[in-house]
Amino acid sequence: MAKRNIFVWLVLLGALFAMSGCSWPRISNTNAAGNAFEGPFFTPIKTATPAPTAVPTQTPTPVPTVPPQVLASRLGFIMPVKGAHVPEWLDLVPGAKRGYRSGTHEGVDFGYNAVGVTVRVGTQVLASGGGVVVRADLNYREPTSQEMDAILARSARQGDTSADDLDKLRGRQVWIDHGQGLVTRYAHLDRTATGITVGTQVSKGQLIAYVGNSGVPNDGAGDSPHLHFEIRIGDSYLGQGLTPARARDLYVQALSGKK
Ligand SMILES: [Zn+2]
Repeated sequence: MAKRNIFVWLVLLGALFAMSGCSWPRISNTNAAGNAFEGPFFTPIKTATPAPTAVPTQTPTPVPTVPPQVLASRLGFIMPVKGAHVPEWLDLVPGAKRGYRSGTHEGVDFGYNAVGVTVRVGTQVLASGGGVVVRADLNYREPTSQEMDAILARSARQGDTSADDLDKLRGRQVWIDHGQGLVTRYAHLDRTATGITVGTQVSKGQLIAYVGNSGVPNDGAGDSPHLHFEIRIGDSYLGQGLTPARARDLYVQALSGKK
């Protein structure tokens, strides 16, 4: 009888314990997947945040790591306008300030009676080096004067020009990929030459386009058609971070036609 009473009491105590909400000492554990569990019944309390999986990225174009002056001496490019030289006027080279868009010039302007030959609308633009055309604006649309005003207002407000707006300010363009992260850009074009389209293989000195005034704000600068020419190295440009005088030296070297 006594044993039976003890048994009944134990059962009652157990039931009371379960109903009271008391619990066993809480323990933590982690399963094989890394999910944390807590408590005697291993109730998942939180799914562990999965470790971020690496987003597959495109294989970046290898960019030369040589100093710019060494790179410039290796290019062997030629002048994109026949008979021209790199202008002495430092306003026309990389590093010059461009107040109208609160920015910095990233290339060389061939024009403004500063390059030894007359550059006018229709002057031939030549490939500085051999490569593959990666951009050719065949169906270019000139921004309206309202759109142009909006671009310049944004630039003034931001104190800089966004990459998108800067692209519009370069007007009609052709880009040539020379490999190893090197791209030349030819901007403000009037039109592209026959047969020049994305994928076209061009050789050094080949006619690719004609000088124009595209993308130039209509503030009088349109009276001086010129070729805006850039040598890009990966995400930067030849002469980036240098004074205009130093940048000019690099372009003289790069466009000497000699390696
Ligand atoms: Zn320019």
